[in-house]
Amino acid sequence: MKLQEADAKGLLVAQGLPVPPWSVAHTPTEARAAAERYRDEGADAVVIKAQVLVGGRGKAGGVKLAKGAAETVAAAILGMDIKGMTVRKVLVGPAADIVAEYYLAAVLDRAERRILLMGSAEGGVEIETVAEANPEAIIRLHADPALGLLPFQARRLAFAMGLEAHLKDAVRIAQGLVTTMRAYDADLVEINPLAVVREPGADGATVERLVCLDAKITLDDSALARHPGLEDLRDPDEEAPEDKAAREAGLTFIKLDGTIGCMVNGAGLAMATMDLVKRAGGEPANFLDIGGGARADKVAAAMALILSDPKVNAILVNIFGGITRGDEVAQGLIEARAQQARDVPMVVRIVGTNAAEAAVLLAQARFETAATLDEAAEKAVAASQAAGTAA
Ligand code: GDP
Ligand code: MN
Repeated sequence: MKLQEADAKGLLVAQGLPVPPWSVAHTPTEARAAAERYRDEGADAVVIKAQVLVGGRGKAGGVKLAKGAAETVAAAILGMDIKGMTVRKVLVGPAADIVAEYYLAAVLDRAERRILLMGSAEGGVEIETVAEANPEAIIRLHADPALGLLPFQARRLAFAMGLEAHLKDAVRIAQGLVTTMRAYDADLVEINPLAVVREPGADGATVERLVCLDAKITLDDSALARHPGLEDLRDPDEEAPEDKAAREAGLTFIKLDGTIGCMVNGAGLAMATMDLVKRAGGEPANFLDIGGGARADKVAAAMALILSDPKVNAILVNIFGGITRGDEVAQGLIEARAQQARDVPMVVRIVGTNAAEAAVLLAQARFETAATLDEAAEKAVAASQAAGTAA
């Protein structure tokens, strides 16, 4: 799950990291009110930033400074289309007086099973560009899985990035990114730019300090259950409609490119089923695990999800009844077929708990069944190929 910049900044602040103040505005009027507040506090300009879940907002015109006309600038950004995303809200904050921009991120390195820190003095530009044009400009080091980012590691990183003038803050921020990763089970915490900014000091002189000017956080969806409240930060625009439907129905669903819709219980059986479809010469349209103990309504939801993919021209149902009762699934299939918008050939194999009852129901409803999984896969592939030829 990707977080909007404003929400990501909230998590950084909660972990004690330095982030300049901000407000979120949904209308130009709200943006003006926020701008006036920051001006009253001494800011001579505000920055207005589109809150959309894509990178490169600056280049796309979604980040603007406003001296007086905050309302007009916000009006121009709100409703803007940035890489296919409509801007529905903006972040408003006092404009930072930037001295230098750096890049600093913590990412989950699955291969090393550690958190990887990446830093670069070439901040403000997309890191992919730096990685391609100038890979040695990126410093990489792994945090310790038990001890986190050790102080000497953080100092080494800060020196290599050229941040020796802000050593203490740089160390605190680098360690803070690792703390943030762990506190929320994040996959990525990216600060780009991490910026040295000039600010008025207490005695009227200007001071320079290091702040997180932009923030991007992605969370591990599978760990959200451990963090009450974070689910509320999900942006409805981020998710594909089928992913949303699957999540709400409690189904594990991954869309693929083929033509044969698969409905299976259990992740291992779902993978085996996909292998057999491939071996029979077909291409699965999805991975779908209806889970253990699925009842009729869940089966109907799964069927609707499979059929929402226009490429699906055959369906293979493979259920191994344990806690899941075969007759419940059969009932769900019958209900789903009565409601479904289009008619697609379906092959059903149900074994295990209440398989005999299921067989009676399926026979009455004239479903095509198969005794073995090989037979089911072959029948589904044949049906799909026939449908493909006919189309
Ligand atoms: P992104 O393009 O989506 O990554 O959005 P950023 O928040 O990183 O902003 C892009 C760029 O706009 C930054 O790299 C800065 O150069 C500039 N920028 C962002 N905020 C400010 C600000 O408060 N003051 C100034 N002067 N420039 C800013
Ligand atoms: Mn950025």
